Amino acid sequence: MTEEKNSCSHDCAHCSVKHDSCSDPSERDLKFIAQMASIKHKIIVLSGKGGVGKSTVSVNIAFSLAMAGHRVGLMDVDFHGPSIPTMLGIKGARTESDNNAILPIEVAGVKVISVDFFLDNSDNAVIWRGPMKQGAIKQFLEDVAWGELDFLVIDCPPGTGDEPLALCQIVKGDKRAVVVTTPQEVAAADVRKSLDFCAKLALPVLGVIENMSGFACPHCGAVTYIFKQGGGEKLAEQAHVPFLGRIPIDPTVADSSDAGLPLVCKYPDSPTAKAFTDVVRPIGKLLLDGEGA
Ligand code: ADP
Repeated sequence: MTEEKNSCSHDCAHCSVKHDSCSDPSERDLKFIAQMASIKHKIIVLSGKGGVGKSTVSVNIAFSLAMAGHRVGLMDVDFHGPSIPTMLGIKGARTESDNNAILPIEVAGVKVISVDFFLDNSDNAVIWRGPMKQGAIKQFLEDVAWGELDFLVIDCPPGTGDEPLALCQIVKGDKRAVVVTTPQEVAAADVRKSLDFCAKLALPVLGVIENMSGFACPHCGAVTYIFKQGGGEKLAEQAHVPFLGRIPIDPTVADSSDAGLPLVCKYPDSPTAKAFTDVVRPIGKLLLDGEGA
Protein backbone atom coordinates (compact mmCIF):
# COMPACT_ATOMS: atom_id res chain seq x y z
CA MET A 1 0.00 0.00 0.00
CA THR A 2 2.75 2.47 1.04
CA GLU A 3 4.87 1.44 -1.90
CA GLU A 4 1.94 1.92 -4.23
CA LYS A 5 1.39 5.44 -2.86
CA ASN A 6 5.04 6.46 -3.28
CA SER A 7 5.31 5.27 -6.84
CA CYS A 8 1.84 6.29 -7.83
CA SER A 9 1.36 8.12 -11.12
CA HIS A 10 -2.18 8.21 -12.34
CA ASP A 11 -4.48 9.98 -14.76
CA CYS A 12 -6.65 12.52 -13.00
CA ALA A 13 -10.32 11.80 -13.55
CA HIS A 14 -11.02 15.53 -13.86
CA CYS A 15 -8.32 16.97 -16.05
CA SER A 16 -6.27 14.18 -17.69
CA VAL A 17 -3.14 15.50 -15.93
CA LYS A 18 -0.80 12.72 -14.87
CA HIS A 19 -0.28 13.27 -11.17
CA ASP A 20 3.02 12.12 -9.69
CA SER A 21 1.60 11.37 -6.32
CA CYS A 22 -1.72 10.53 -4.80
CA SER A 23 -2.01 13.95 -3.14
CA ASP A 24 -5.17 15.88 -3.89
CA PRO A 25 -5.00 18.64 -6.48
CA SER A 26 -4.14 22.07 -5.05
CA GLU A 27 -6.56 24.98 -5.04
CA ARG A 28 -4.72 26.37 -8.06
CA ASP A 29 -5.05 23.04 -9.90
CA LEU A 30 -8.78 23.04 -9.19
CA LYS A 31 -9.12 26.64 -10.39
CA PHE A 32 -7.33 25.70 -13.63
CA ILE A 33 -9.54 22.63 -14.12
CA ALA A 34 -12.65 24.77 -13.64
CA GLN A 35 -11.36 27.44 -16.01
CA MET A 36 -10.58 24.87 -18.71
CA ALA A 37 -14.01 23.30 -18.27
CA SER A 38 -15.72 26.66 -18.78
CA ILE A 39 -14.10 27.00 -22.22
CA LYS A 40 -15.83 24.43 -24.42
CA HIS A 41 -13.60 24.32 -27.49
CA LYS A 42 -10.03 25.47 -27.99
CA ILE A 43 -8.99 26.07 -31.59
CA ILE A 44 -5.22 26.30 -32.05
CA VAL A 45 -4.29 28.08 -35.30
CA LEU A 46 -0.96 26.86 -36.64
CA SER A 47 1.28 27.28 -39.62
CA GLY A 48 4.76 26.10 -40.40
CA LYS A 49 5.49 29.37 -42.17
CA GLY A 50 5.28 33.03 -41.18
CA GLY A 51 3.42 35.53 -43.33
CA VAL A 52 0.83 33.10 -44.69
CA GLY A 53 -1.97 34.98 -42.92
CA LYS A 54 -2.30 32.87 -39.76
CA SER A 55 -3.13 35.84 -37.50
CA THR A 56 -5.52 37.23 -40.11
CA VAL A 57 -7.27 33.86 -40.26
CA SER A 58 -7.34 33.58 -36.42
CA VAL A 59 -8.96 37.01 -36.09
CA ASN A 60 -11.53 36.37 -38.79
CA ILE A 61 -12.39 32.90 -37.41
CA ALA A 62 -12.90 34.42 -33.95
CA PHE A 63 -15.10 37.28 -35.18
CA SER A 64 -17.08 35.07 -37.58
CA LEU A 65 -17.90 32.75 -34.68
CA ALA A 66 -18.84 35.74 -32.50
CA MET A 67 -21.02 37.19 -35.27
CA ALA A 68 -22.78 33.82 -35.43
CA GLY A 69 -23.76 34.32 -31.79
CA HIS A 70 -21.07 32.30 -30.00
CA ARG A 71 -19.09 33.38 -26.94
CA VAL A 72 -15.52 33.76 -28.13
CA GLY A 73 -12.06 34.49 -26.76
CA LEU A 74 -8.92 35.18 -28.77
CA MET A 75 -5.54 34.39 -27.24
CA ASP A 76 -2.40 35.64 -28.96
CA VAL A 77 0.61 33.50 -28.05
CA ASP A 78 2.78 34.88 -30.83
CA PHE A 79 4.99 36.44 -28.15
CA HIS A 80 7.74 37.59 -30.51
CA GLY A 81 5.44 39.14 -33.10
CA PRO A 82 2.01 39.82 -31.62
CA SER A 83 0.01 41.27 -34.51
CA ILE A 84 -3.52 40.62 -33.23
CA PRO A 85 -3.67 43.90 -31.21
CA THR A 86 -2.75 45.89 -34.35
CA MET A 87 -5.35 44.01 -36.38
CA LEU A 88 -7.98 44.92 -33.78
CA GLY A 89 -6.90 48.53 -33.20
CA ILE A 90 -5.93 47.85 -29.56
CA LYS A 91 -2.13 47.91 -29.75
CA GLY A 92 -0.72 49.18 -26.47
CA ALA A 93 -4.02 48.70 -24.60
CA ARG A 94 -3.65 47.93 -20.90
CA THR A 95 -5.51 45.22 -19.02
CA GLU A 96 -7.08 45.74 -15.62
CA SER A 97 -7.51 43.18 -12.92
CA ASP A 98 -10.44 42.18 -10.80
CA ASN A 99 -10.25 39.77 -7.90
CA ASN A 100 -6.73 38.72 -8.93
CA ALA A 101 -7.97 37.89 -12.44
CA ILE A 102 -6.71 39.68 -15.55
CA LEU A 103 -9.58 41.24 -17.47
CA PRO A 104 -9.20 40.62 -21.21
CA ILE A 105 -9.74 43.53 -23.61
CA GLU A 106 -13.12 43.20 -25.33
CA VAL A 107 -13.59 44.07 -28.99
CA ALA A 108 -17.11 43.66 -30.38
CA GLY A 109 -17.81 41.03 -27.73
CA VAL A 110 -14.61 39.01 -28.35
CA LYS A 111 -12.32 38.72 -25.31
CA VAL A 112 -8.72 39.28 -26.35
CA ILE A 113 -5.41 38.72 -24.58
CA SER A 114 -1.91 39.34 -25.92
CA VAL A 115 1.56 39.85 -24.50
CA ASP A 116 1.42 43.30 -26.11
CA PHE A 117 -0.92 44.48 -23.34
CA PHE A 118 1.83 43.85 -20.78
CA LEU A 119 4.79 45.47 -22.54
CA ASP A 120 6.14 48.86 -21.42
CA ASN A 121 6.44 49.71 -25.07
CA SER A 122 4.80 47.75 -27.91
CA ASP A 123 8.00 48.05 -29.94
CA ASN A 124 10.08 46.30 -27.27
CA ALA A 125 11.32 42.85 -28.24
CA VAL A 126 10.20 39.94 -26.08
CA ILE A 127 13.30 37.84 -25.40
CA TRP A 128 12.07 34.72 -23.66
CA ARG A 129 13.25 31.16 -23.48
CA GLY A 130 10.85 28.22 -23.62
CA PRO A 131 9.96 27.98 -19.90
CA MET A 132 8.97 31.66 -19.78
CA LYS A 133 6.68 31.22 -22.76
CA GLN A 134 5.22 28.12 -21.17
CA GLY A 135 4.62 30.12 -17.95
CA ALA A 136 2.94 32.95 -19.87
CA ILE A 137 0.67 30.51 -21.71
CA LYS A 138 -0.32 28.89 -18.43
CA GLN A 139 -1.01 32.31 -16.93
CA PHE A 140 -3.11 33.40 -19.90
CA LEU A 141 -5.18 30.24 -19.56
CA GLU A 142 -5.38 30.31 -15.80
CA ASP A 143 -5.49 33.93 -14.69
CA VAL A 144 -7.48 35.65 -17.44
CA ALA A 145 -11.16 36.12 -16.64
CA TRP A 146 -12.43 34.32 -19.76
CA GLY A 147 -15.76 33.40 -18.20
CA GLU A 148 -17.89 30.87 -20.06
CA LEU A 149 -16.75 30.56 -23.68
CA ASP A 150 -17.93 28.44 -26.59
CA PHE A 151 -14.62 28.92 -28.41
CA LEU A 152 -11.13 30.08 -27.52
CA VAL A 153 -9.17 30.76 -30.70
CA ILE A 154 -5.41 30.62 -30.07
CA ASP A 155 -3.01 32.24 -32.53
CA CYS A 156 0.40 30.52 -32.42
CA PRO A 157 3.68 31.79 -33.85
CA PRO A 158 4.86 30.03 -37.01
CA GLY A 159 6.60 26.70 -36.65
CA THR A 160 6.49 23.79 -34.29
CA GLY A 161 8.39 25.23 -31.34
CA ASP A 162 7.75 25.93 -27.67
CA GLU A 163 4.36 27.62 -27.95
CA PRO A 164 2.33 24.95 -29.79
CA LEU A 165 4.07 22.25 -27.77
CA ALA A 166 3.21 24.01 -24.49
CA LEU A 167 -0.38 24.45 -25.62
CA CYS A 168 -0.69 20.75 -26.42
CA GLN A 169 0.61 19.91 -22.96
CA ILE A 170 -1.24 22.54 -20.93
CA VAL A 171 -4.65 22.98 -22.57
CA LYS A 172 -7.21 20.54 -21.23
CA GLY A 173 -10.49 19.45 -22.74
CA ASP A 174 -11.46 19.69 -26.38
CA LYS A 175 -8.59 21.16 -28.41
CA ARG A 176 -8.06 21.00 -32.15
CA ALA A 177 -5.85 22.60 -34.73
CA VAL A 178 -6.59 24.65 -37.81
CA VAL A 179 -3.60 24.73 -40.15
CA VAL A 180 -3.08 27.69 -42.48
CA THR A 181 -1.05 27.59 -45.67
CA THR A 182 -0.68 29.46 -48.93
CA PRO A 183 -0.73 27.58 -52.23
CA GLN A 184 3.02 27.65 -52.99
CA GLU A 185 5.13 24.55 -52.42
CA VAL A 186 7.64 26.55 -50.31
CA ALA A 187 4.88 27.28 -47.78
CA ALA A 188 3.32 23.85 -48.10
CA ALA A 189 6.62 22.13 -47.34
CA ASP A 190 6.80 23.90 -43.97
CA VAL A 191 3.10 23.55 -43.25
CA ARG A 192 3.43 19.78 -43.80
CA LYS A 193 5.62 19.86 -40.67
CA SER A 194 2.77 21.44 -38.71
CA LEU A 195 0.51 18.58 -39.77
CA ASP A 196 3.19 16.10 -38.75
CA PHE A 197 3.46 17.91 -35.40
CA CYS A 198 -0.30 17.47 -34.88
CA ALA A 199 -0.08 13.77 -35.77
CA LYS A 200 2.86 13.19 -33.42
CA LEU A 201 1.13 14.97 -30.53
CA ALA A 202 -2.28 13.42 -31.30
CA LEU A 203 -3.76 16.89 -31.74
CA PRO A 204 -6.89 16.49 -33.88
CA VAL A 205 -6.92 18.69 -36.98
CA LEU A 206 -10.14 20.45 -37.92
CA GLY A 207 -8.67 21.11 -41.33
CA VAL A 208 -6.41 23.10 -43.63
CA ILE A 209 -7.22 26.60 -44.89
CA GLU A 210 -5.55 27.86 -48.04
CA ASN A 211 -5.06 31.63 -47.70
CA MET A 212 -3.99 34.03 -50.47
CA SER A 213 -5.52 31.67 -52.95
CA GLY A 214 -5.93 33.56 -56.22
CA PHE A 215 -6.67 37.24 -56.72
CA ALA A 216 -10.21 38.25 -57.61
CA CYS A 217 -10.17 41.36 -59.82
CA PRO A 218 -12.27 44.01 -58.04
CA HIS A 219 -13.45 45.30 -61.43
CA CYS A 220 -14.43 42.24 -63.42
CA GLY A 221 -14.33 39.50 -60.76
CA ALA A 222 -11.97 37.29 -62.80
CA VAL A 223 -9.67 35.24 -60.57
CA THR A 224 -5.94 35.24 -61.32
CA TYR A 225 -3.93 32.52 -59.63
CA ILE A 226 -0.79 34.49 -58.79
CA PHE A 227 0.59 31.47 -56.97
CA LYS A 228 -0.01 27.82 -57.83
CA GLN A 229 -3.44 26.39 -57.23
CA GLY A 230 -4.47 23.58 -54.92
CA GLY A 231 -1.51 23.47 -52.49
CA GLY A 232 -3.78 23.46 -49.44
CA GLU A 233 -6.09 20.80 -50.82
CA LYS A 234 -3.14 18.57 -51.66
CA LEU A 235 -1.68 19.01 -48.16
CA ALA A 236 -4.99 18.12 -46.55
CA GLU A 237 -5.39 15.08 -48.78
CA GLN A 238 -1.88 13.81 -47.99
CA ALA A 239 -2.44 14.25 -44.24
CA HIS A 240 -5.96 12.73 -44.41
CA VAL A 241 -7.52 15.79 -42.81
CA PRO A 242 -10.39 17.96 -44.10
CA PHE A 243 -9.78 20.84 -46.48
CA LEU A 244 -11.78 23.77 -45.09
CA GLY A 245 -11.57 26.14 -48.05
CA ARG A 246 -9.78 29.01 -49.75
CA ILE A 247 -9.48 32.69 -48.89
CA PRO A 248 -8.54 34.86 -51.87
CA ILE A 249 -5.90 37.58 -51.91
CA ASP A 250 -7.92 40.69 -51.32
CA PRO A 251 -6.48 44.15 -50.66
CA THR A 252 -9.40 44.86 -48.29
CA VAL A 253 -8.08 42.10 -45.98
CA ALA A 254 -4.84 44.00 -45.42
CA ASP A 255 -6.66 47.38 -45.37
CA SER A 256 -9.10 46.29 -42.70
CA SER A 257 -6.29 44.69 -40.63
CA ASP A 258 -4.30 47.90 -40.83
CA ALA A 259 -7.42 49.87 -39.90
CA GLY A 260 -7.89 47.70 -36.80
CA LEU A 261 -11.06 45.85 -37.73
CA PRO A 262 -11.39 42.29 -39.05
CA LEU A 263 -12.64 42.03 -42.62
CA VAL A 264 -15.68 40.01 -41.57
CA CYS A 265 -16.78 43.01 -39.44
CA LYS A 266 -15.71 45.82 -41.76
CA TYR A 267 -16.95 44.35 -45.05
CA PRO A 268 -19.34 41.58 -43.97
CA ASP A 269 -21.02 41.40 -47.39
CA SER A 270 -17.82 41.12 -49.43
CA PRO A 271 -17.02 37.88 -51.29
CA THR A 272 -13.90 37.43 -49.10
CA ALA A 273 -15.90 37.79 -45.88
CA LYS A 274 -18.22 35.15 -47.31
CA ALA A 275 -15.19 32.94 -47.98
CA PHE A 276 -14.24 33.28 -44.30
CA THR A 277 -17.74 32.46 -43.07
CA ASP A 278 -17.88 29.47 -45.44
CA VAL A 279 -14.64 28.20 -43.90
CA VAL A 280 -15.77 28.86 -40.33
CA ARG A 281 -19.32 27.45 -40.59
CA PRO A 282 -18.24 23.78 -40.74
CA ILE A 283 -15.79 24.37 -37.85
CA GLY A 284 -18.56 25.68 -35.59
CA LYS A 285 -20.98 23.01 -36.77
CA LEU A 286 -18.54 20.15 -36.33
CA LEU A 287 -17.63 21.17 -32.80
CA LEU A 288 -21.15 21.99 -31.68
CA ASP A 289 -22.61 18.83 -33.28
CA GLY A 290 -19.94 16.90 -31.37
CA GLU A 291 -21.50 18.24 -28.15
CA GLY A 292 -24.78 16.73 -29.25
CA ALA A 293 -26.18 20.24 -29.71
P1 ADP B 1 1.11 35.46 -40.23
O1 ADP B 1 0.29 35.52 -38.97
O2 ADP B 1 1.02 34.14 -40.91
O3 ADP B 1 2.52 35.93 -40.07
P2 ADP B 1 -0.51 37.75 -41.03
O4 ADP B 1 -1.88 37.32 -40.71
O5 ADP B 1 0.18 38.68 -40.09
O6 ADP B 1 0.43 36.48 -41.28
O7 ADP B 1 -0.55 38.35 -42.49
C1 ADP B 1 0.60 38.91 -43.11
C2 ADP B 1 0.15 40.08 -44.00
O8 ADP B 1 -0.63 39.59 -45.09
C3 ADP B 1 -0.74 41.08 -43.27
O9 ADP B 1 -0.43 42.37 -43.71
C4 ADP B 1 -2.15 40.71 -43.70
O10 ADP B 1 -3.03 41.82 -43.68
C5 ADP B 1 -1.90 40.22 -45.12
N1 ADP B 1 -2.90 39.21 -45.55
C6 ADP B 1 -3.21 38.05 -44.93
N2 ADP B 1 -4.13 37.37 -45.63
C7 ADP B 1 -4.43 38.12 -46.72
C8 ADP B 1 -5.34 37.97 -47.83
N3 ADP B 1 -6.12 36.90 -47.95
N4 ADP B 1 -5.36 38.97 -48.77
C9 ADP B 1 -4.57 40.07 -48.63
N5 ADP B 1 -3.71 40.27 -47.63
C10 ADP B 1 -3.64 39.31 -46.67
